[in-house]
Amino acid sequence: MTGEPEQTEPERIPVGVSSCLLGHEVRYDASHKRNPFITEALSRYFRYTPVCPEVAIGLATPRPPIRLERAEDGRIRVRGVHRPDIDVTKALEAYGRQKGQELQGLSGYILKAKSPSCGMERVKVFKPDGHPAGFTGRGAYARALLAQNPLLPVEEEGRLNDPSLREGFVCRVFCYYRWQRLVEAGLTRKGLLDFHAEHKLLLMAHDEQRMRALGRLLASLGEQPLAEAADAYIREFMAALARPATRGRHANVLYHLLGHLKRDLAPADRQEAVALIEQYRQGMVPLIVPITLLRHHFRHWPDPYVARQFYLYWNPPELALLNQV
Ligand code: SF4
Repeated sequence: MTGEPEQTEPERIPVGVSSCLLGHEVRYDASHKRNPFITEALSRYFRYTPVCPEVAIGLATPRPPIRLERAEDGRIRVRGVHRPDIDVTKALEAYGRQKGQELQGLSGYILKAKSPSCGMERVKVFKPDGHPAGFTGRGAYARALLAQNPLLPVEEEGRLNDPSLREGFVCRVFCYYRWQRLVEAGLTRKGLLDFHAEHKLLLMAHDEQRMRALGRLLASLGEQPLAEAADAYIREFMAALARPATRGRHANVLYHLLGHLKRDLAPADRQEAVALIEQYRQGMVPLIVPITLLRHHFRHWPDPYVARQFYLYWNPPELALLNQV
């Protein structure tokens, strides 16, 4: 996924999803929450594994609604809203652990927000009398699933409406998928070094400090077992990408790229690029504008270091991820 993108059908990446977001009528009231961005735009790139944990543990559709409740002992339970005799906490947690093991091959997961089973965060917690408990939690299935897969990129469908969160999530899924393929093919020291080289500018846009720390980690690669170094590497790599990229950090990366054209560009072309980078920094144009100009220049003056940078070429044009960030 580096270099000039080819016009071929993309390989679809395995991603887990709450079934109701695909239009499956599995909610407590037998409705669904189909999300067109997930079922249409993203489905060209993602191959979904739908999971409805409530149906999977044997609850009927339709069924009495459930909620997160702070029990008398202070623990968070999943109980019936009008049926305190229903308590599916253990069943949902056990199913989350089971799926966490079974779905190790996934490269991302999209969860339904606010659900006591699937919600990623800020799910309302109630007292047994129905009043708000004053804090929020994570759905029971999601909690168990994610505890087994701490590196898995995860997002909720509502947050995908935010252009920055959407771009960040899709980027993390693409990168994690590339890492999984690398490991699957048999990780080597060279493979790890190449992976780092290809993602260097992307890391710089998110977290320059971690990018340098990862470089130091790889500089001492001969001193520790490869598997240990790889585990430490991907943990920090994913943590770096989870930090949102800012306009300022993107602008630094764009200037870095422009530096690779210093012997090639005519002064007027360089000035044009600088002006666009500054307009981007100030929020006047989206990131796709300076990126497109730089891609254009690198087509005329190819640079082997730049050609392998995932940063410049990973974005699928159909998703228009850079058009609003
Ligand atoms: S939010 Fe989760 S548990 Fe609820 S209907 Fe959707 S997939 Fe099923």
